Amino acid sequence: MAALNNMIDLKTLTIQKAHEALVRGDFTVRDLCQAYLDEIKKRDSDIHAYLEVYDDVMKQADEAQKKVGKGNPLAGIPIAIKDNMLLEGKIATSASKILTGYVAPYTATAIKKLRDAGAVFIGRTNMDEFAMGSSTENSAYGVTKNPHDLSRVAGGSSGGSAAAVAANLALASLGSDTGGSIRQPASHCGIVGLKPTYGSISRHGLMAMGSSLDIIGPFTKSVSDAEILFNAMKGKDRYDSTTIDTEHGTQTTEHRKVKVIGVPRHFLKGEGIDADVMKAFEASVQKFKDLGYEIKDIELPNIEYSLAVYYVIMPAEVSTNLSRFDGVKYGYHKEGKDLLEDYMLSRGEGFGAEARRRIMLGSYVLSSGYYDAYYNKANAVRELLKNDFEKAFGKVDAIITPTSPAPAFKIGEKVSDPVAMYLEDIFTVTANLVGNPAISIPAGEKEIGGKKLPIGLQILSNHGREDVLFDLGKKFLGEKVK
Ligand code: GLN
Repeated sequence: MAALNNMIDLKTLTIQKAHEALVRGDFTVRDLCQAYLDEIKKRDSDIHAYLEVYDDVMKQADEAQKKVGKGNPLAGIPIAIKDNMLLEGKIATSASKILTGYVAPYTATAIKKLRDAGAVFIGRTNMDEFAMGSSTENSAYGVTKNPHDLSRVAGGSSGGSAAAVAANLALASLGSDTGGSIRQPASHCGIVGLKPTYGSISRHGLMAMGSSLDIIGPFTKSVSDAEILFNAMKGKDRYDSTTIDTEHGTQTTEHRKVKVIGVPRHFLKGEGIDADVMKAFEASVQKFKDLGYEIKDIELPNIEYSLAVYYVIMPAEVSTNLSRFDGVKYGYHKEGKDLLEDYMLSRGEGFGAEARRRIMLGSYVLSSGYYDAYYNKANAVRELLKNDFEKAFGKVDAIITPTSPAPAFKIGEKVSDPVAMYLEDIFTVTANLVGNPAISIPAGEKEIGGKKLPIGLQILSNHGREDVLFDLGKKFLGEKVK
């Protein structure tokens, strides 16, 4: 659809703008989907954001067209989904060999809600295997490249979803965030990524990584678009008992206005934070001051333990959740001489190195004799962290930090050094441990070798206060605030 590509600029298109244009009849849902399919054909062989582009996009488009103009902003909006989410009848593999050819028997609640609202699903995106990683290099199906510099990673684990939106191969996409997998790739790809409050969106139909940490969230070009998708997906679900009822995330008149933003300076002093990332962060602090906010230094006394706590609790939950993949019930199967050897061969060959590493770590920290020393202790510190945040949010409305300690790194740079890779998560894992919502928004760039690499700013708020993130994010990016 060359005509469409001339008429609307996919680069600046948002859900809001597309919605208005569809309602006006400037173009049809088919036109819009075709524009993205054309772009995918042109560019995705270089970027590899998608593992599969669905063959029924036009059929979905025709269905969606009927919903246009009936008041739902998502009618006809083309969305990509991460490969760990179920859409009935479609393959979903979590980018793992062990789920080769697995076909989803039902649809995830979050996706069903979007489908009912009229969204069109273009395809499933690449990711780190079972959402474990920070670069999408742990996929069994090849690495996703950063659209801003093809020699660099898009981030992870939802690297495909982030790259798809950044490269205009989808208008929005879904990711999952267990320790930063929405915010970090959003930061590296220069777009908006929201990790909602734990339990605000159903995990039913999302393949579990760390069940007490996982949450689905959107990648978008604007904060307003993230808000639209969050509102469409949130809410209590009978299929996920951890979901919470939500008036949630919506600004009500009793909510006091956002005035004070906290900065945990003590946590930003360590080495390992790129100088340009710090410069961009200071500029963001200044920008909020200029917008009239009070900036306050805050103490989060236990935050320095977050990463260690995360890398005990998360593998414990991973080892439990991945035990269901035994080569019998799902996907990849390798025949041995007896059942035990079946398991060993299927799991040994079906899982990649990082999945195996975490299963071993998790089994270790949960084993009798080590359980108290590691797992219980980590849970105790997790409680301390929750107290720290509760106290902090008694004094401030939001907390800001960089999203990642540095811009996107080179493909291959950290694959053989798991600890360096884990340090990517230093600013993001805490929100998952305490359950609070957090958003990454674009806040600067660093130029390396003629390429402009995006830098992200992370904003955290109190439980159920996504409205604070939307409010601050929109003001920061100069978007209209209702
Ligand atoms: N990068 C983190 C990890 O490897 C976060 C993963 C995620 O959020 N799914 O565990």
